[in-house]
Amino acid sequence: MADLVLGVDLGGTNARAALVSADGVILGQARRPSLQDQPAPATLDQITSACRDAVAAAGKDLASVAAVGIGLPGIMDVETGVCFWSPNFPHWKDVPIGETIGAALKAPAFILNDAKCAAMGELTHGAGRGSRNMVMITLGTGIGGAFVVDGRLLMGPNGSIGEVGHHTVHPQGRRCGCGNYGCWEAMCARDAIIESAERKLQSGAPSTLRRAHERGGVTPAAVAEGAAGGDALCLEVLDEIGFYIGLGVANLINMLSPERFVVGGGIAQAGDLLMEPVRRTVRSRAVPLQQATAAIVMAELGDSAGVVGAAAWARDRCRDSSQPNPR
Ligand SMILES: [Zn+2]
Repeated sequence: MADLVLGVDLGGTNARAALVSADGVILGQARRPSLQDQPAPATLDQITSACRDAVAAAGKDLASVAAVGIGLPGIMDVETGVCFWSPNFPHWKDVPIGETIGAALKAPAFILNDAKCAAMGELTHGAGRGSRNMVMITLGTGIGGAFVVDGRLLMGPNGSIGEVGHHTVHPQGRRCGCGNYGCWEAMCARDAIIESAERKLQSGAPSTLRRAHERGGVTPAAVAEGAAGGDALCLEVLDEIGFYIGLGVANLINMLSPERFVVGGGIAQAGDLLMEPVRRTVRSRAVPLQQATAAIVMAELGDSAGVVGAAAWARDRCRDSSQPNPR
């Protein structure tokens, strides 16, 4: 097949498109507002425009594009390319993304959940390269997950495998958006970090974070920055959050025995100050044999994981199009 594929990362704010080579290099890219409050056709037009711009930015023409991959959050049928529901697009219902984009760009188009796209990117061109068994988690507002077992990205009904964020790590923990208490993401994603920092500030402890607090905006990035500067309160927050992340990582290592456990997402940018308590918890909690084979590594593709992974997914689907199962 031709080696140029378009990858699209459809977020709530922007649709980012990139023309990606077979070795995962972005040759040209473009962004358009994703118009999340408008009906689906407006957003699909934006995707098409961003794709055309990305191809033009690379100095190529549309005829050279072999396929299009589109990653977005939500529940979807990867076989038919229909998205049933997406948290980012409140007006969407049963949107035929694959068919519409495919017809507009005259190339086969495939959709995939965004967490699985990131995993495809890391597996093919990033931190998971060369592994046959990989778990990837994305730490952000929630926790996204994807499992690669024996070289296959696991999908399940409507791509629903991998909702790691809602396994319980604390029976009496914080209330989660899903209604349960102490879900993994309720204990260590974005809001948990902010709440932990605010609670410690209220106890009167001195911290460089107090200024951000008084301006009304403690953020995970501010906590990470404070910790990097040696702020004791921020370090305590990362230690607490890292412990809960580690509990979930240990559970997943025990269940899936990956060779590579890839950690990505904005919160992971806190780096070793967060990963040290994660690894410490895994050492004390995961089955020794399993943890010995599981390398816990940081994602390598950063915010390009979405577009590069969507392109890798489309390439994969084209290669396997004669088979009933993806990957
Ligand atoms: Zn939950």
